[in-house]
Amino acid sequence: MTTVRTAGPTPSGGLQGFDGEVLEPGDASYEAARSATLRPDDPQLILRPRHGHDVQRAVRYAAASDAELAVRGGGHSFAGLSSGRGIVIDLAELRDVEILDESGGIVRVGGGATWGDVVDVLQPRGLAISAGDTKSVGVGGLTLSGGIGWKVRRYGLALDSLLAVEIVTADGRLVRADTAELPDLFWAVRGGGGNFGVVTAFEFRAHRTTRVHFGRIAFAPAGRRQVLRGWAAHLRDAPDALTSIANLANPVAGGPDAPVEVFVAFDGDDPAEAGRAIDPLRRLGTVVADEVAIMPYDQILEPGGTPPPGIAFLTRSGFVDAASTAAMLDLLSDTSGSAGSPFISLRALGGAVARVPGTATAFAHRSADLLVTTISAGPAAAVEAARPAIGALWARLAPHVTGAYANFLDSATPRDVGAIYPRDTYDRLAAVKERVDPLNVFRRNHNVPPGASR
Ligand code: FAD
Repeated sequence: MTTVRTAGPTPSGGLQGFDGEVLEPGDASYEAARSATLRPDDPQLILRPRHGHDVQRAVRYAAASDAELAVRGGGHSFAGLSSGRGIVIDLAELRDVEILDESGGIVRVGGGATWGDVVDVLQPRGLAISAGDTKSVGVGGLTLSGGIGWKVRRYGLALDSLLAVEIVTADGRLVRADTAELPDLFWAVRGGGGNFGVVTAFEFRAHRTTRVHFGRIAFAPAGRRQVLRGWAAHLRDAPDALTSIANLANPVAGGPDAPVEVFVAFDGDDPAEAGRAIDPLRRLGTVVADEVAIMPYDQILEPGGTPPPGIAFLTRSGFVDAASTAAMLDLLSDTSGSAGSPFISLRALGGAVARVPGTATAFAHRSADLLVTTISAGPAAAVEAARPAIGALWARLAPHVTGAYANFLDSATPRDVGAIYPRDTYDRLAAVKERVDPLNVFRRNHNVPPGASR
């Protein structure tokens, strides 16, 4: 049974009028709600607002208390940022997806919706939004820090399709921000993560989608250096409709002996066009599996979900510019051939991402060729034991990478924040933060403290 009541003793202002669920340790529903997807936790209070006014009440309540506030969208943060020991505002009830204007593709998405909620509504109408690769991931966290998925080279990051946000700021006001109203705030939320408030709704411009050509082409590991170099060179000049990820050293698929897996997503249903874009990749090495097929867009998304208890993740990322790509790929080719190497994933960028000026949004890594991510997942002790080797790998990669992608980081140290935001972006974010959250109420995130320039 879910406990639904107004809170007992409260900081000034209290939770009177709050319509949502209030969960505390000992409540029947608390156990299921205490942790986010990837990290166990035990908050002192979980608030589940039912609408925007509830979010306002919850934010005012949290701002008046001494407890640290965490905001949970889809709950998939690798760094565990949507849970904690203090107060959690869990947006699980704000999941409506509404098509406001079908011909214009204008869609309003609740701040706690997942990408699965979005495709369930859009796919039957032939619409899609450039997002990630997994249905269980939240629209909130993914969009506020970027959003790199299977349509990224054609339609840009998820945040590039944003038209407006409805957001509750630290003073409890519910405002709309877009390019005309509060444009600085709108600039900041497009890359600045959860620093600026609780987004209760996102307004996106969706695009028309056909079926897509999608699948895995696996190559024998011996030729990995040539495959990777050829893959990156091809993606640099390929049509924007082609997005691709190359995976190396997948421990599940055989570690150093695993094939090099190139996943392709061609955003179109014309087999001849898809062939022209994909076939050059097939000639890069010895193909041991070719599973590319035409299918509806929603079928290419992984369902995702919650890993079993006790599974930990180490996740790090960095961007690679064109000048460093060859050296980086050679280094990774050698690394992935050794025992104990983590899962290494390379996402090709460019295309629509690169056509947006670096200062247009708070996501600044627009000119990168590639995003490189390493992930180690498994029982906590085994993952901890792998930490020094992964640190050593990133020390070798350091001369070839710039910055970091907030959504693929398992920590949120000031150093991480420094890597996510180049100095100019950081200083501009800090100035907006000073205006909208001077007391740093929203700090459980990749935090940019108010006013602090670098
Ligand atoms: P949460 O843990 O709920 O939130 C993450 C951060 O965003 C927190 O700081 C939280 O406070 C803030 N936040 C969330 N919603 C709101 C809101 N409405 N208002 C204000 N702040 C909010 N990323 C990609 O770019 N592409 C991918 O293909 C991709 N695939 C993934 C697959 C898996 C299985 C996983 C675990 C992650 C993946 N990611 C991907 C990374 C993902 O984008 C991040 O983990 C992201 O933070 C998840 O968002 P969330 O809302 O689920 O997370």
